[in-house]
Amino acid sequence: QVGTDKLDLQNVVDVAYSKYKDLQDGANADYIPILATVPSDLFGVVIATKDGQLFTAGDIDYKFSIQSVSKPFTAALVMQQMGPQALLDKIGVEPTGLPFNSKMALELYEQRSANPLVNAGAIAAVSLIQAESESDRWAQIKENLENFAGTELPLLDEVYQSEYETAWSNRAIANLLYNYNRLYSDPEQALRVYTQQCSLGVNTKDLAIMGATLANAGTNPLTGKLVLNSRHVPELLALMATAGFYDESGAWMYSAGLPAKTGVGGGIVAIVPGQFAIAAFSPRVNQAGNSIKAMKAIRFIAGELGVGLYGAN
Ligand code: GLN
Repeated sequence: QVGTDKLDLQNVVDVAYSKYKDLQDGANADYIPILATVPSDLFGVVIATKDGQLFTAGDIDYKFSIQSVSKPFTAALVMQQMGPQALLDKIGVEPTGLPFNSKMALELYEQRSANPLVNAGAIAAVSLIQAESESDRWAQIKENLENFAGTELPLLDEVYQSEYETAWSNRAIANLLYNYNRLYSDPEQALRVYTQQCSLGVNTKDLAIMGATLANAGTNPLTGKLVLNSRHVPELLALMATAGFYDESGAWMYSAGLPAKTGVGGGIVAIVPGQFAIAAFSPRVNQAGNSIKAMKAIRFIAGELGVGLYGAN
């Protein structure tokens, strides 16, 4: 077991990268057609400390779509604007044990619309942002994500077009939420802005800094900007711990013991509160839509460093 000095952090990133680099399990998501065209072998691993130091290996500059890794950060904006009780009252915080795009979860949780880390709750979170217009809603969400990353994030327009043209499932979710009075803006507007949010381009370093901002109690280590009030950070991390991997959240916590969030574009970020974040990216995902290489790399690093929240395993 290694400690957490600088040499060890770089070493464990290098070892994780070489250990999993040739793994071919899983396949790119293709229900969003353009995701199938991302080179499948890409693989990047980054640790970002709470003071902004980076330890990197692999394809760390490749820009991919953030997808669901955006969800906790927009939930954070809802907390900033309305307080944490709003998430409880207007969305819910229960893990579903069901896939990220489940409609059944809405029927089961009619009074709660699940949680902000699955599609239903994330679309509801977008609809809750206090905005004057659709462009204002989008501008606030984009700016918030950029504040977490400490850099500008481009909209990957081809991803947006591909996802919006095929967004029948999410459209159904938005309309169902609206029917249950669990959506707080026009449904098609919420769907469009949610899809834009998911189509923002990040690289593995950006994801690591977004996580490091949470590890640093809500202040971005690169810009020094307070992005989320520190008293809301534990609430957000609790959501990530219970629902960050959808229907694999239990297995993830069981084996890695860290709050984390995945996206179907292949990105994952995990947070060691008060210390650092571990991000990884690789496009091949499993049945639950979680990147196999990224998941293994982060779990390996957490294990080697002994940083699981409930003790080293
Ligand atoms: N934009 C994707 C969707 O709505 C996000 C899903 C994911 O990353 N798991 O289907």
